[in-house]
Amino acid sequence: MAVRRISIFGATGSIGQSTIDLIRRNIEEYDVVALTGGRNIARLAEDARALRADMAVTAFPERLGELKEALSGSGVEAAAGESALLLAADRPADWIMSAIVGAAGLAPGLHALRHGTTLALANKESLVSAGPLLLETARKSGARILPVDSEHSAVFQALVGEDPAAVEKVIITASGGAFRDWPLEKLAHATLEQASSHPNWDMGQRITIDSASMFNKAMEVIETKEYFGFSPDQIEVLIHPQSLVHALVGFRDGAFMAHMGAPDMRHAIGYALHWPDRRELPVARLDLARVGNLEFKAPDQARYPALGLAYAVLRAGGLNGTVFNAAKERALDGFIDGRIKFTQMAQVVEQVLDRFQQQGGHINAAMTLDNLTQIDHLARIQSDRIMTELASA
Ligand code: NAD
Ligand code: MG
Repeated sequence: MAVRRISIFGATGSIGQSTIDLIRRNIEEYDVVALTGGRNIARLAEDARALRADMAVTAFPERLGELKEALSGSGVEAAAGESALLLAADRPADWIMSAIVGAAGLAPGLHALRHGTTLALANKESLVSAGPLLLETARKSGARILPVDSEHSAVFQALVGEDPAAVEKVIITASGGAFRDWPLEKLAHATLEQASSHPNWDMGQRITIDSASMFNKAMEVIETKEYFGFSPDQIEVLIHPQSLVHALVGFRDGAFMAHMGAPDMRHAIGYALHWPDRRELPVARLDLARVGNLEFKAPDQARYPALGLAYAVLRAGGLNGTVFNAAKERALDGFIDGRIKFTQMAQVVEQVLDRFQQQGGHINAAMTLDNLTQIDHLARIQSDRIMTELASA
């Protein structure tokens, strides 16, 4: 078997570490080109040494000295900053994991795709913000994007060998997050700590809070449209507290193909790593007799206003996804920093979307990198304004 050149963007995070766990089990099959991280320099350097990476990059220039020191004598090249991330994405590779959190993952992903590199895409923010641009870039170079979100990997697997035109609908499931059983009136007082714990999945802090607010599922509704091209009417969300069925694809003959498995991201990562093959993965096997029951129910729109916003974004099209993602990222920063309440995150995003709608103009501009960078920037400024208004109201 030929050795595969791989890079991992966001290597120090939850998805990055799970990816490294899989790589390490068969390290002889891989030639690690670049690993990137943020402020956890010790982790980045240790993994870069252990995997004998050519290059390690921290996103933050002020940490370069520390990284160089941690790598001294290892032969691993150290670099820092946004431009170094792009250089790392330009290094020839066969497979790249895109697992940076937030819009910062977009530019490295675009670079990788331009070179025709297969992109295992966990960074959902880039797809929500710039889906058509990513797909067009991949189409031009012939690069492949493989979904690394449990629901989208599930849909992708359920579609193998099927005619997409025979699909009636797609259902993605949601655990309901940390507050699924809370009384509605308590939600406004949810603390950061309470929002940062997930009933079923062990993930980074931002996506965990997004799961409690359902902004994560809202983004996944948009992801479903971008990856597979289904219309908003074909995409449904169901609350499924056990997180064992990740998605269902319904066909025109009435059949549903459900994808099940333990809630462990190493399944979706491993599927993308070995695709189109299936190889043994170190994930727990389902014991359905022990599980006993699987529950499903429709999400309550009052509890999860983020979901309605996602459908509005899909129907409006244009650069609304860019605005939605930027406003959501800022609102999440605002909640984490204690500037706004948990329930105000959805209010911020809704108001930012409304203001862009009212202004018209550049929200309907073509999706170029320049246009979306500008819109992303404006949406963040607008979000900050609205948060200031909300705080002083
Ligand atoms: P995390 O917070 O654990 O890790 C994020 C990684 O991004 C870290 O390596 C960090 O150093 C890096 N990073 C942070 N800010 C950066 C910046 N400005 N520039 C460059 N790098 C930066 O996050 P995670 O849970 O691993 O999630 C990563 C991505 O995968 C997110 O887009 C998330 O939505 C998606 N995802 C995660 C899961 C999960 O189970 N954790 C599941 C599905 C999708
Ligand atoms: Mg998911």
